[in-house]
Amino acid sequence: MVHAAAAAPPAPASGQPPAKAPRYCDALQQPLETAVSPEPRAPVHRVEWRKVLGGEPVEINPSLGNGFKVMSVAEWSARWKSNPDFPGCLAEGCGSGDTREHYFTQTWCRGKRVWASEALCLACHRFSWRSYRDPDFKTPEQYEKELWESLAAGGK
Ligand SMILES: [Zn+2]
Repeated sequence: MVHAAAAAPPAPASGQPPAKAPRYCDALQQPLETAVSPEPRAPVHRVEWRKVLGGEPVEINPSLGNGFKVMSVAEWSARWKSNPDFPGCLAEGCGSGDTREHYFTQTWCRGKRVWASEALCLACHRFSWRSYRDPDFKTPEQYEKELWESLAAGGK
């Protein structure tokens, strides 16, 4: 199951204990998988990115208007927000913190996590990819299959 990014929960007021539920990026048990690329690795915005770089018009966000327009990278990405958990550009020699996350997905299954994030750097115009998978993450389908197999094996 893939869920769209939800707004981050508000930070607890000072004096209150932090929320117990782990966040997607807390207590990671594995290293992150990372990559830097000149175009999106995520399955979105690739076509538009090429158009923006090529000076071709791209679709105006429906919340702002309609039709197509030639946009700068900054204008095109203006509706994206930085991810405060991972604000830094991963590109060698850049290190900018001026990034915009254009893709985020996470899956939780029985307390195990899989997630991926990709951000565009406004300084170097490269994309920083981060993804993570708990070592023993199983999808519901894998879990059910193994459960049935173990029941079948035990019934003999
Ligand atoms: Zn950068």
